[in-house]
This record gives sequence, C-alpha cells and structure tokens, in this order.
Amino acid sequence: MIPGARLILLGRQGAGKGTQCVRLSRQFVVPHISTGDMLRAAQREGSELGKMAKLVMDDGGLVGDEIMVGLIRERLGQSDAMGRGYILDGFPRTVPQAIALDEITTDLPIDVVIDVDVPREIVLNRLSARRVCRDCGTNYVSSGIERLPWICEVCGGDVVRRDDDTPEAIMHRLDLYDELTAPLIDFYQSTGRLCIIDGVASADEVSRRITAAVEEARQNRNR
Ligand code: ADP
Ligand code: ZN
Repeated sequence: MIPGARLILLGRQGAGKGTQCVRLSRQFVVPHISTGDMLRAAQREGSELGKMAKLVMDDGGLVGDEIMVGLIRERLGQSDAMGRGYILDGFPRTVPQAIALDEITTDLPIDVVIDVDVPREIVLNRLSARRVCRDCGTNYVSSGIERLPWICEVCGGDVVRRDDDTPEAIMHRLDLYDELTAPLIDFYQSTGRLCIIDGVASADEVSRRITAAVEEARQNRNR
C-alpha cells in the first residue's frame, strides 16, 4: 500500500506550487488542499465568505488569519485528511497561521515543509503569461497569440487570466509574500522541518527533487 503524507508547500506565486501539488496529491493519494481554490469555490457559490474574499483577492491582499484558520481546521478534520494526509497549498501564509496549524496538527504532525524557491524576477514573467481554466484549475502559459475563446484541454472549460493576475495585484501579492510569508521559512527552518528546493528547472525535475526530499525527511524521522 502507498503510504500517505502530510506536506506543506511554500513558494512565491508562480513558483509552480500548484502543478507540483497536483502531482504530489496523485503520488501519495491524498487531497490537494489549496486555500486559494477553496476561496474561489466560495466565490462561485456566492456565499458571504466568497463575496468578502473576492474583494480582498482581486486586490492581491490576504484574507484574515482567523477566517483562514477556521477553514483549514474544518478541512483537516475531514476523514480523508485525517486518514491518509494532505498536500497543503497556500496555507500557512503568515506566522500566526503557522502557529495555529501546529496546534491543529499536534496529534498528526506534518512530515516536511517544502519551499519551492524561485526568484522574484522569474515569477514575475511567469505570472504575466499565466492563464488558468476557470473550471478545473489547470494552468497554461500564454504566448500572446492564441485564438480566443481558449478552451481547456482537460475539461472544456474557459481558459482565462485570473482576476488577481493583473500587474498591480501581482506586485502586491509578491510584496506580501516577502513581508508575511517569507518569515515562515525561518519559522520552519528553526524547528528542523524545512527543505528548500531550487524551483528553477523543468516541472519533472522539480518533482524529482521534491520526491527525494520527502523520502529523506521520512528516513530521518524513522531513524
Ligand atoms: P497565489 O499564490 O498566486 O496568490 P492562491 O490561489 O494561493 O494564489 O491564493 C489566491 C488569493 O487567495 C491570495 O492572494 C489571498 O488573497 C487568498 N488566500 C489564499 N490562501 C490564503 C491564506 N492562507 N491566508 C490569507 N489569504 C489567502
Ligand atoms: Zn479545465
């Protein structure tokens, strides 16, 4: 039987976290829990949370810690996550979120935190060309000359630029990453749970690096 996993992926917007999380989720047969996807789903449902989140997200800001912690507490309490584990994408994003997560996961602690490291200049270029399927979330790269409407190869949905992939919102998100999320790297490093992966490589190569890091973390723990 394939063992499950409890992993956190950190990395700048556009570092390729989403793609890697989908692969890891298949590899370990655990849910990919993306707080960005959860908030976008809330928007599609038109819930109060969704309406509030849209205002914050379109501007590139962060939804409040208390709301996010509540969402994650509930999600990690579901049977799939309690059983096999999960891949966390987009959470924690601040030190208070990370502290709350430690408390939520005291009984079933995370295996390892992977930081997919890609410099700011490189992600800026990637993000301005990023397009995403509105329905299934598959990512695409725009060459600037595609014929519109662009239809998703996976599910037939519309491929669009995310509302928060405007230049202003991108800059704002990257600034907030440096200010609020980058401190998590020290937070996890100081407790021996961090592994930094160089994310400037092909998606397959980055996958290999992540898999090797997860295996190593497990071996260290079992020793
Ligand atoms: P990106 O990593 O490109 O910003 P995500 O899909 O992970 O994209 O998140 C989109 C937006 O959702 C964020 O810019 C933020 O407004 C909100 N969000 C997602 N996760 C969190 C979180 N843990 N805390 C606060 N806001 C969040
Ligand atoms: Zn699709």
